Amino acid sequence: MADGMRGWNRRAVLRRTALLAGGVALGAVGTVQTTWIADRRLPIAGGPASATLGARHQEVGAGTVEAIWGVNTSERLLALTFDDGPLPKWTPMVLDTLEKYDVPATFFMVGVRARQNAALVRGRLGRHEVGNHSWAHHDLARMDANTAYDDLRRSHDAITEATGVEPHLLRPPWGHLGGAVLHAVARLDYRLVLWTLQMVEGEFPRDPVGHARRIVADVQPGTILLGHDVGTEQRLVALRGLPDMITGLRGRGYTFVTVSQLLRHATVG
Ligand SMILES: [Zn+2]
Repeated sequence: MADGMRGWNRRAVLRRTALLAGGVALGAVGTVQTTWIADRRLPIAGGPASATLGARHQEVGAGTVEAIWGVNTSERLLALTFDDGPLPKWTPMVLDTLEKYDVPATFFMVGVRARQNAALVRGRLGRHEVGNHSWAHHDLARMDANTAYDDLRRSHDAITEATGVEPHLLRPPWGHLGGAVLHAVARLDYRLVLWTLQMVEGEFPRDPVGHARRIVADVQPGTILLGHDVGTEQRLVALRGLPDMITGLRGRGYTFVTVSQLLRHATVG
């Protein structure tokens, strides 16, 4: 009798906890899923979470999207990437450094900035690759598939116009993804490029050498390294340390390549 009471009390507590947790029954995975869709905060098809537009034939290019964080390789290769440009601060400085050290990089550009600052990059991208980083750095994960496609298409055209090269890679702002972004990426026949390692300027205020040392130590074969060629003064920690980073990584036997070159070195299997 006493044991039975304890069991009943435990179940009551669990049930009360579940109700407090979100106002929905959390007893079974199936229940949660059904409740969420019935909630209608996200439409079943056509909203930012859905990778389908509905019942009609899906226009999705080759029909495949590949998401890439890094590459599996035994070769000491890495891809240095810069997001958010081009802007007068600090894109020319980064291009100067890369030119001086003969290092290729991949620039994920914001379309409207490419249109406004085409003169900064014109004729300077020969060794580099360009990718799409959205039209105006809005959150693609909050857009439906058609809106995300229109945003990326507009950016694609602006980057092509500004650089003379068509991008085939997307890095979504903040790495935010919804199903609708995947759908838009498929329509564009893009590859989706995230990153393995990122600059950590905030951990090394006014210490470019220390920051460079940390990055050099953390890189592994196949790393895609995220940096920014625009932003606040804090970003200068990484950018001023680029020469140290480059010589340090070369000292460890690393070779810099673009993202697309890195992908060609991926170990199959
Ligand atoms: Zn960004």
